[in-house]
Amino acid sequence: MTNTTGAIARQRHYTTLRGASREVLRQTWSIGWDDPGYTTQFGTPPNPAPRHTATSLTKVLGDAQWLYRGACLACAWEGPDQPKRDHAIEDAHDHTHPGWRTLPIFDRPPGAKGHKTWLLHVTERYPAGRFDAGGPLRLYAEPYARRHKAGAAPGGGFALYAERPHKATPPETRQLTLE
Ligand SMILES: [Zn+2]
Repeated sequence: MTNTTGAIARQRHYTTLRGASREVLRQTWSIGWDDPGYTTQFGTPPNPAPRHTATSLTKVLGDAQWLYRGACLACAWEGPDQPKRDHAIEDAHDHTHPGWRTLPIFDRPPGAKGHKTWLLHVTERYPAGRFDAGGPLRLYAEPYARRHKAGAAPGGGFALYAERPHKATPPETRQLTLE
């Protein structure tokens, strides 16, 4: 076993475990499925990224409890243990793009036709150069889109989904409904 931390070091170690049992593999930290730098144990581990790049690490504790950590493809940083992958991805963005939690949240583009206008509007509302630096795009979650998705922001960063705030029904409307 190695004590080296960081997504690159852990994934390198993981890909040396080709003959290991399924149990050992599941209990070893490796980059989460579909997240930046992901490979199976037979793959080639990623090279260090030129800038801080968010990803996740995952392993199974005991029989069934999955654990996640935010991690970075450029350095050895790792976040705290999290029971949910999306929370680990958010931790990773606190490391790679501090301040992302205050960025405006948008609805998804209205369709192919309005995409260009939408993108222009979104880019104007975000700090200059943010997407080119691999920054995330915040979107409202939809029933079919709520898992944070790598590569879905305009510059290749993550789309990070947020729940839409519940609209409280104004009292006068409630009364009207009752009548
Ligand atoms: Zn980093």
